[in-house]
Amino acid sequence: MKMAVLQWDPDTNGYGLEVVEVRTLEDLPSLRGEAATPIVGASIVLDGRLNYVSTEKQFRDAVLDDPGTAAKAQFLEKDGVYWPSDFQSLSLASAYYGFERARAYALARGVDPEALRGVPVYYFPSFRVNRDDRGKDNAAWYSSLRSFLLFRFEELQSIPLAMNQGVIAHEYGHGIFTAEVHGGAWNPDYVDRWCPVSCVDTAGPIMLSLLEEGFADVWAVATTGDPRFIGHSLLEWEGRGRDLNYFDPKAHCWSQREFDEEIGYFARYFAGSREKAEHWGPRKYELGTVWASALYGASKAPNTDLDRVVDALRASYRSIGPRSLAAVVAEDPTGDSFGRLDTIASAIIAGAPDDATRVALCAVFQDRLSLTADALGAACSGVPSNGQCR
Ligand SMILES: [Zn+2]
Repeated sequence: MKMAVLQWDPDTNGYGLEVVEVRTLEDLPSLRGEAATPIVGASIVLDGRLNYVSTEKQFRDAVLDDPGTAAKAQFLEKDGVYWPSDFQSLSLASAYYGFERARAYALARGVDPEALRGVPVYYFPSFRVNRDDRGKDNAAWYSSLRSFLLFRFEELQSIPLAMNQGVIAHEYGHGIFTAEVHGGAWNPDYVDRWCPVSCVDTAGPIMLSLLEEGFADVWAVATTGDPRFIGHSLLEWEGRGRDLNYFDPKAHCWSQREFDEEIGYFARYFAGSREKAEHWGPRKYELGTVWASALYGASKAPNTDLDRVVDALRASYRSIGPRSLAAVVAEDPTGDSFGRLDTIASAIIAGAPDDATRVALCAVFQDRLSLTADALGAACSGVPSNGQCR
């Protein structure tokens, strides 16, 4: 089916209307299909009721104050092309196409087709935490609800997040990570194991949250070919913060010692959860970019490319057996093993689909993460570091 949506144009680096072929739609007015099931008018509330929740159904009943309804988009058909006839219809159609592209890329990289099939997308839901309105100017994968959230925009005045293909693909990257690394569980069991008291100063959860952001950016850039996708919507990131094309030793060279210091800093200053959230909000993206930039850097090595680097990343989630991230998460009693740069880097290297990609990953991880070839195991034996960080 041919449909007009908002699309990023690599030639102008801007967004404009473009007619595209949509392949997975099952119902046009509700924009429902294999890639997404949009839901409008929902109300999600997180409050004290969550303290009494012990099953996924109880969780859904507690947070979905209003479950919402199917979308009703309007189109004008002309010469076989469906043109959205109002702003919300254009926004929903563009979002659906964004999900379709993200899913097509994920399936091409070997993601299980059952993962995220017809995934719910809450479009412009009301979202409150106690009485606070948090339902604006954001997009998210909400793993406990196994759903995406696309919020209304108020202060953001550039390309709306729902229409930004890179943002949709980034969120889809989160969905892939949770589907594969902990089976999409609504309440993954590592939380209780790794955070018996609080998650403030534990390595595993902190590593997990920054990895998710970095990996999600890699999925977004690989899906769209746009290393600056975030700047179309979030002007504060328009500079070089998350631009994977740009290498800055100060921002992109890291070590286990610095990661451990980061956690110590948390333990000392962020026992209060609100300050932690305010600090960690931007910080997890900065640290995630260390990983994203390393993976993107590896893709520029001879005889490999970003698709093959993403093949390695995807394989590291669960398909490479005993060293996969899924296996580490399942078996790590404290989160300390998951909180090690060499654990994560070794899993990605083990997923490399060919020698050139393996060598590129060995070289870049030694360099960017201050790891020795020995620490990365036999797969990196004899491979020199890239040497950009020295
Ligand atoms: Zn994210």
